[in-house]
Amino acid sequence: MTKLTLKYERLEKLVNAWGPSGFESEVQKLVKEYGEPYADEILYDKMGSIIFKRGNSGPKIMLAGHIDEIGYMIREINKDGTLKISNLGGIIPPYQPSNEILIRPYRGGADIIGIIQTSASIGGQGKPEVTPLDKLHVDIGCKSDKEVKELGIRVGDAASQYAVYRTMDRVQIKKEDGKETKSKHKIAVAKAFDDRIGVFMGLEIMRRLKEENISHPCQIYFASTTQEEVGLRGARTAAQMIQPDLGFSLDITPAKDAPGWPEKGHILGDGVVIHSKDGSMIANPKLKKFAIETAEENDIQLQDGFLGFGGTDAGIIHVTGIGAPSLFIGISTRYGHSQRAMIDLNDVENAVKLMIAMIKKFDMATVASFTKI
Ligand SMILES: [Zn+2]
Repeated sequence: MTKLTLKYERLEKLVNAWGPSGFESEVQKLVKEYGEPYADEILYDKMGSIIFKRGNSGPKIMLAGHIDEIGYMIREINKDGTLKISNLGGIIPPYQPSNEILIRPYRGGADIIGIIQTSASIGGQGKPEVTPLDKLHVDIGCKSDKEVKELGIRVGDAASQYAVYRTMDRVQIKKEDGKETKSKHKIAVAKAFDDRIGVFMGLEIMRRLKEENISHPCQIYFASTTQEEVGLRGARTAAQMIQPDLGFSLDITPAKDAPGWPEKGHILGDGVVIHSKDGSMIANPKLKKFAIETAEENDIQLQDGFLGFGGTDAGIIHVTGIGAPSLFIGISTRYGHSQRAMIDLNDVENAVKLMIAMIKKFDMATVASFTKI
């Protein structure tokens, strides 16, 4: 097994924290607390992003992980005491019935757990088709709208999925060229790996640079960005502020070994993923080659990634100002936007190692070579 070296107790706190798109300030306090000791300077945009900076000379390298998670907004309080919800980001309807959500009334007071339900579940007469989000209701145990208001819940209050982090030790058995090998893996399950895992990796990169006194010929700007799930919004303002020379998004990508996934490709536990393309960008080929060669030199397990849809913060970073070659550095994740997303911590170790190995080499000439014609 790849030796686990990172502070996973922080990952647990980050994924369990509450922070749907547009409501990230509380989880950003935790990010600030973790990142502060490793930064020479901390910057803020006006969209809620936090930017940790290290170094004062050389090309500007932006790393972005988005702190928001998909969530819900209360859109209507029904007379019978149930709630109607709208989505904040990519809520997937088939995952919803019986899910618990955590509603945080904007005026403060106690958090309220609600259960998403569909009338189809009553009496076992369930319809086979998927119920769309606007036909689902949230049950918080009230019997009238008056009771709901008494709890302090108002239209416009936000909610996150409600689930807690846990890990499982597994042995992976592989057969290659007729030879069987076994390797140990730690599998983690949680809500909000999208994209607290990216923020966690950014923080761990900053921690290692500081604690191991790693010198780098570049300036590092790690941004914990907001509102990615509703359209890469925080990365836009953070990147405009930084004006980076290179950009990286640290994020998840669907593991293609999840049952039923329509195509083959990068899978859980087989190494860090680099996308050649997604719905928001095409990777700069020279930067991609540099990343792959750096992984090979350092014995870092890597997978060639491809995503025919979607996008990440790198999609907005690479078109900032006059443009900035950018790359997606990702973690294969099963059931991404569900309450029980699944990752392999070996992949996280590999991603952090790769990013640090590249950071050590990003001098002016190397960065300039990526756009030389
Ligand atoms: Zn994401």
